[in-house]
Amino acid sequence: MNKSETLFQEAVTVMPGGVNSPVRAFGSVGTTPRFIKSAKGAYLYDEDGSRYIDYVGSWGPMILGHAKEAVIDSVVDACKRGLSFGAATAIEVEMARLVCELIPSIEMVRMVNSGTEAVMSAIRLARGYTGRNKIIKFTGCYHGHSDGLLVKAGSGVMTAGVPDSLGVPAGCTKDTLSAEYNNLNTVTEHFQRCGEEIAAVIVEPVAANMGVVAPKPGFLKGLRSICEEYGALLIFDEVITGFRLGIDGAQGYYGVKPDLTTFGKIIGGGMPVGAYGGRREIMELVSPVGGVYQAGTLSGNPVAMAAGVTQLTILKEHPEYYTELNEKADKFYCNMQEILKKSGYSWQVNHVGSLGCLYFTETEVTDYESAKTSDTEAFAAYCKHMMAHGVYLAPSQFEAMFLSLAHTEEILNETLKIMEQYFLAGCR
Ligand SMILES: *Cc1c(COP(=O)(O)O)cnc(C)c1O
Repeated sequence: MNKSETLFQEAVTVMPGGVNSPVRAFGSVGTTPRFIKSAKGAYLYDEDGSRYIDYVGSWGPMILGHAKEAVIDSVVDACKRGLSFGAATAIEVEMARLVCELIPSIEMVRMVNSGTEAVMSAIRLARGYTGRNKIIKFTGCYHGHSDGLLVKAGSGVMTAGVPDSLGVPAGCTKDTLSAEYNNLNTVTEHFQRCGEEIAAVIVEPVAANMGVVAPKPGFLKGLRSICEEYGALLIFDEVITGFRLGIDGAQGYYGVKPDLTTFGKIIGGGMPVGAYGGRREIMELVSPVGGVYQAGTLSGNPVAMAAGVTQLTILKEHPEYYTELNEKADKFYCNMQEILKKSGYSWQVNHVGSLGCLYFTETEVTDYESAKTSDTEAFAAYCKHMMAHGVYLAPSQFEAMFLSLAHTEEILNETLKIMEQYFLAGCR
C-alpha cells in the first residue's frame, strides 16, 4: 500500500468518507484520493512523490498556477503582522475598491468566507430588498450547500423544490423554484404564475457544476429583461466565472449586468474567501446600515485578503493573461476534439475560455437533462487512466476542467498525448 492509501484508510475512520468535502472522494471513479503534499505551477505532488498535471486548480482559485511567488510572499508578510484582528483593516478597503473598480455592476461589496456564504447572504439580501420570498434556480446549477439552495430538479419545473439532502426541512426549500438552464419559457412560466412573489433569479452565467454548459445566445439577456419586467433581482453566481473568463467575469464576457453578484474561489487566491456585491441602493440594506443581518468573525481576514488582493492585482495589471489563457484553452480543447473524432467514442467537448468538459455522449449538452446522458462509466475509466498517467482530473463527469496560466503549451500537449494514447492507441 502506498502512502496515500494508508492515509486514506486512517482518514475514513476519523472523517466522513475520509474527506472534508465530498468532491474530493474518488469513489465514483473507482479509486481512492491522492493525498497532496505540495503544488507548484501546473503540478500537484502527492505524499508518494508522484507528480500530476493538475486540471482541478483547487476547483478554480489557482488561475495563476499553484504557489505563485507574489501571492505566497504577500500571505507570509500578512501572517507576520498577525493572523486576525476582528477589526477594520486597510487591506479590506483595498479589496473592496478593487472589486468595485473591476466589476462595473458592483458599487459596494461585503466579504465573507466561502462561496456558500456569499450566495446564502445574497439571497437573503434579495428577499429583504424586494420583500418577496420565492427564488428561481436552474437545475444542475450549484450555489453552495445552504438549505434553500439544495434543490434537485427531478420533480419537474412547475413543482416547488424538494430538498436534495437529508436534514433540510421541506419548509426551507418550499420557496425555491426550479427552471431549466437555457430555457427561458420555464422561467416565464414561474413568473406568470407567481411573479409578484419572486425575489430573485439566481444563475451560474456559465454553468460549471454539470460539466460546462454555456448560456445560449439571448439566455442571460432574456433573464435580465424578465427580472426587470417583474421587479425581481437577477443574481449572477460568479463563484467560478468571476475573474476567470475575463477580469470582469461572465457579466463582462456576455455583456449582461446583474443586480447582485457572488464570488468565491479566484477572489481568495486559494484562501477561504467569498464576496457578494451590487448596486449601492441594494447593498445599503446590509447590516449595520440596513436591516438585512449578515456577519462574520473572520470575514475580510487580513491573510485571506492579502492573497486575494495580490492575485486580483496581478490579473488587473496583465489583461494579456486572459487573452493568452483563453487562446491556449481554445487550442487545447480543439486538439482534444480532433483526437476524439478519430476515436470510436461518443463524445461532446464543451468549453468557454479556460473552463471545459469532456462528456461521453452523442447528445449536445445544453442543460442538466442532456448532461445526464453522459456515460459516467466511460468517464470513470478515462479518469482512472489519466490519473494513472500523471494527469489529475476532477473525479466526476460533472465537474469542469480548470486551466491556469501555468499550463504551458508543452504541458497541455503532454496531456493531449496521454489522451491520445488512451483514445487511439488502445491503451485502455
Ligand atoms: C463552488 C461554488 C459555490 C460554493 O462555494 P464554496 O466556497 O465551496 O462554499 C457556489 N457557487 C458556485 C457556482 C460554485 O462553483
